[in-house]
Amino acid sequence: VLAATGWGSRRSCEELIAAGRVTVNGEVAELGRRVDANVDLIEVDGAPVGVKPGLVYYLLNKPTGVVTTAKDTHGRMTVVDLVPATPRVFPVGRLDIDTEGLLLMTNDGDLAHRITHPSHGIEKEYLVHVRGRVTPGELRRLRDGVELEDGMTAPAQASQPSPGVLRITIHEGRNRQVRRMCDAVGHPVLRLVRTRIGPITDRSLRPSDWRELSTGERRALTEAVAEGAQRYDRPT
Ligand code: URA
Repeated sequence: VLAATGWGSRRSCEELIAAGRVTVNGEVAELGRRVDANVDLIEVDGAPVGVKPGLVYYLLNKPTGVVTTAKDTHGRMTVVDLVPATPRVFPVGRLDIDTEGLLLMTNDGDLAHRITHPSHGIEKEYLVHVRGRVTPGELRRLRDGVELEDGMTAPAQASQPSPGVLRITIHEGRNRQVRRMCDAVGHPVLRLVRTRIGPITDRSLRPSDWRELSTGERRALTEAVAEGAQRYDRPT
């Protein structure tokens, strides 16, 4: 993997490993150890390998009224209009036009694919204002799984920090899933804000603002995807 990502000849990469400068998922690598560059976090002197030059990772706080698509056929403002035009990036997953909150944007197709792949099960947390007060039984249904037209939802986390305001964490990414889950228990969504994507959160990023992910955040995201892959790929 090191040689393939430009760290030098196989011989010099072996020397890097022998010198203890290479870690795999935080542990010092040993010569001959097998790794999967799509799953394992490989670092040289603490810098992730495979962060190829030219790749950018943005965190956007999407406001309502903006569509999550690269180009809207109806001429509406898109999330791509809110971040720098070059290098060209695309949204990771989708938020509805009426949904607010955190959205990753990148030109790293590989990471985007791994984050959105359902088997990697990255957690997405939402703050949800709903109509009415949700009963403990309804909260339990949201947690255990509700029947939607495309099947039962997987177990989720759901709590009600104040009456009519829910915190819901899901790891699936079905179309309009949170809205449909809340509809299914009789509490239509009034406002939906995504507050966390795996380890990534930011309370001070204002609507329509964006920032680059830090190296630590990129690393945490890669680790979360790898952990999710292990957790959900395991045979049951
Ligand atoms: N669930 C929804 O219903 N809408 C979103 O935008 C995200 C999750």
